[in-house]
Amino acid sequence: MRHLPINMDVADRPVLLVGGGEAAARKARLLLRAGAQIRLVAERPLAELSALTVEGRVELVQRGFLPEDLDGAVLAYAASEEDATDRAVSRAAQAAGVPVNVVDRPELSTFITPAIVDRSPIVVAISSGGAAPVLARRVRGWIEALLPTRLGRLASLAEGVRGAAAERLAPSRRRLFWERLFDGPDAARALAGDEAAALAGFRAALDDAAADRPQPGIVHIVGAGPGDPDLLTVRAQRLLQDADVIVHDKLVSDEVLDRARRDAERVFVGKSKSNHSRSQDQINALLAELAGQGRRVVRLKGGDPFVFGRGGEEVEYLRARGIAVEVVPGITAAMGCAAAAQLPLTHRDHAMSAVFITGHAKDGEPDLDWAKLAQAKQTIVVYMGVSTGGRIAERLIAHGMAPSMPVAVIENGTRPDQKVVPARLDGLVDAMRAADVRGPAVIVIGTVAALARQQGLPLRSPAAETDYAIAAE
Ligand code: SAH
Repeated sequence: MRHLPINMDVADRPVLLVGGGEAAARKARLLLRAGAQIRLVAERPLAELSALTVEGRVELVQRGFLPEDLDGAVLAYAASEEDATDRAVSRAAQAAGVPVNVVDRPELSTFITPAIVDRSPIVVAISSGGAAPVLARRVRGWIEALLPTRLGRLASLAEGVRGAAAERLAPSRRRLFWERLFDGPDAARALAGDEAAALAGFRAALDDAAADRPQPGIVHIVGAGPGDPDLLTVRAQRLLQDADVIVHDKLVSDEVLDRARRDAERVFVGKSKSNHSRSQDQINALLAELAGQGRRVVRLKGGDPFVFGRGGEEVEYLRARGIAVEVVPGITAAMGCAAAAQLPLTHRDHAMSAVFITGHAKDGEPDLDWAKLAQAKQTIVVYMGVSTGGRIAERLIAHGMAPSMPVAVIENGTRPDQKVVPARLDGLVDAMRAADVRGPAVIVIGTVAALARQQGLPLRSPAAETDYAIAAE
């Protein structure tokens, strides 16, 4: 390690900044975020910098640098972008024992500025010791993606109960209390933006801990997307890494499950020939039971949980029992398949609306307004329609849709075995039979279907593998 990372308190303390251009402005913004008092030495400062003097946050010294500018400064930055000035600042600061940073000149600096991920009060600083700043910035990108946006808010909320926790819990129990708190449902609520509920939860958790009562669990109902693991949301991926138990369906791909924490328990509740499926009631009861044991449960569903996913029923059941539940959206099959086949669902020349319908209802055939569905300039995406596609085509034709209307059947969309089958509406059944479509598949009906790309698998970025390896460490 060439440089010692430290976090310095510069709030209300004088920091010298030499330079009036864009580089100086960047440093000024950073220093202001940390609450420093800036002494800016610049002959011709940018308007942005002069404006700061009006706000009283910057003392402007409008002339060239003089060594006495360092008087009282706790740090010095040279950002003049002029070799002679930068060298003079570096020399004078070192003589005066003031730590100095010269922008982009590690050899003239006694400290360097790291790349920063700012979730104040949580701050992550990344440095390559000057060896590869661009790489350090990439690392910052990875960490940015990994840390929840509201992490800082969570830390601030926790600070709100810190005093009370110190008062009410013996020192030996505090650490366990905080660990549970940050793993628990109230931290998840804070990260999801429900701060009032989170704070109330923190207080209740403190009461429970002080009285030695167990802490409650949470169920996250998470959309796993259509199959390609790169299409998971950042939040879904993080929850998969934090879960104690994952309750998943048949539609969730193995590649997605591979992204979960290795030692999380997995419960398969999908339908398959060998596995007698659990009823929705049994699944609801299972979720409640697992959360009741204080565990972090991820209920992982294909696509989006609220699009033909019965996520609504699970939310209702858990809410009625006072169990914490959060929903994380996923890319629904229609969106994933449309993107993978490069088939736009709406298009100014083709379709002004898109409707998602199911080919299966609670009791057989869905009861839909076929005349409305058959209208022009509309795209229809049929889910669960492989066995009923023929009936749907007949009804649409009977209600006036052209028998020659283009159709695209997309099977295993976004997966390595994706298949795109083009057809006419009146030839849908034959086309599906000829291509041996078994599902999961969506049927896209409308003139946009003619735009579908048949060849070519979805692109997979090799970088994603690397990112994940880092995320998992
Ligand atoms: N909640 C899911 C839909 C569940 S219903 C979502 O939002 O996508 C199951 C139906 O989804 C399947 O019958 C099929 O029509 C569709 N489906 C799911 N994954 C698919 C995929 N990878 N390719 C094509 N269709 C898919």
